Amino acid sequence: MGKRILVWFRNDLRLHDNEMLTEAIAKSDEILPVYFFDPRHFEKTAFYTNKTGLLRTKFLIESVTSLRDSFNKLNGNILVLMGQPEELLPELALKYDITEVYHHREVASEETLLSSKVEDLLWKQKLNLKHFIGHTLYNKEDLPFPVKDIPDVFTQFKKKTERDAVVKPCFLTPQNIDFVDVADWGIIPHVEDLLPQADFSLLTKGNDLKGGEQEGLTHLYNYLHTSENLELTAAMAKKVDVISMLSPWLSLGCLSPREVYWKIKEAERIHGSKPFYSQIVLGLLWRDYYRFMFKKYGNAFFRTGGFGKEEVITPVQVNDSVALQNWKEGKTDQPLVNEYMQELKNTGFISNQGRQLVATYLIHELNVLWILGAWYFEEVLVDYCPASNWGNWASIAGVGNDAKLNGNFDFEKQLKNLVPKRTFSLLADS
Ligand SMILES: Cc1cc2nc3c(=O)[nH]c(=O)nc-3n(C[C@H](O)[C@H](O)[C@H](O)COP(=O)(O)OP(=O)(O)OC[C@H]3O[C@@H](n4cnc5c(N)ncnc54)[C@H](O)[C@@H]3O)c2cc1C
Repeated sequence: MGKRILVWFRNDLRLHDNEMLTEAIAKSDEILPVYFFDPRHFEKTAFYTNKTGLLRTKFLIESVTSLRDSFNKLNGNILVLMGQPEELLPELALKYDITEVYHHREVASEETLLSSKVEDLLWKQKLNLKHFIGHTLYNKEDLPFPVKDIPDVFTQFKKKTERDAVVKPCFLTPQNIDFVDVADWGIIPHVEDLLPQADFSLLTKGNDLKGGEQEGLTHLYNYLHTSENLELTAAMAKKVDVISMLSPWLSLGCLSPREVYWKIKEAERIHGSKPFYSQIVLGLLWRDYYRFMFKKYGNAFFRTGGFGKEEVITPVQVNDSVALQNWKEGKTDQPLVNEYMQELKNTGFISNQGRQLVATYLIHELNVLWILGAWYFEEVLVDYCPASNWGNWASIAGVGNDAKLNGNFDFEKQLKNLVPKRTFSLLADS
């Protein structure tokens, strides 16, 4: 029998620019792509929230379905299973005579703990778990500094990285794949199977974001080439809350950040440089920065005191106060905060400026413990990813690692800046 590589898909639900997949195809006779719906991702947390809310669950299901469709077009499939990877992967390896397992390395503790467990268990079967890096715009080995020396101050990280590092070209989308023969590829669950207690009326409240690689690529193309933002000058762009809404696809890896970057370069050749193109690239740098900070500091982002103190959060410290509840429901004394919070609940998405405003309000005006806001965002955001969420929350709470950001978040100032922008954006939408 030839070499068979099991390709464990996690937050990398795409065929394009996927080094793990490209290498698995090149180095094996057959591959077995696998995705696990892990029941732990759909449980309640100790912090009065669900680990994954309805809208992200829907987006995830659509993304896995889209990946299956792509493999179907290549006369193959992806094995979809419900269960814990550390239990199922060793069994699958035995059942299908797997010679190696590939996956993309994550940075947050739950995810890295899981892959360490899987690695140990596979090792007992004399199998290697090979790690790939495919979530960032810049590969860590291409940065002008080792991870331990990455500057904590974002502006320094940005300056040195842009000056000294290059964005690699994308890996090509595979056109031919030989798949392991599997009798039953498994059923993709419905949202009702994963979240039976959810409020399904949310599904009709105007979130028309659809998960999947093809949807992501189409959204990217339309945004870069046909968006009304093409008309925006730098001066006008300052007055509008410009959003690309690429983050849900980036978070699940339906889009690779390098693909977004190179498609922007292509669009610039056609339309010239545009302020909204630069904004996306700046966003991708922030995204890399928080991921690298997670790599550098590990679990520090999840501590109440952030980088300053060593304590670990426990549910005992937490109270589900009225203020917190009103904030979640969009029933505070601040109309703009309420507008954003209701939009967040109904669509799973608000702009970066909206997120900063509501987070600043919760922490600095309502004096609620910041981690409770971060847990709520983790539940409801369609684009949730640990490093971006916890990193941004820690910065706003003033416990992050970039001392220059600490103390930068003043509610009244943000409000003054946002009110005209928000009106502008709403007018532009209508
Ligand atoms: C409190 C708080 C929580 C957040 N939680 C998340 C989260 O869970 N997941 C998430 O993807 N982003 C998070 N962000 C960052 C940011 O708000 C979103 O990425 C952005 O609003 C997505 O909109 P966009 O795609 O239109 O962004 P654009 O402005 O078009 O930027 C392009 C891409 O860059 C990345 N990006 C932009 N800004 C940031 C930033 N400040 N930090 C990290 N990445 C950024 C996103 O992937 C985004 O899609 C959070 C920000 C705050 C203030």
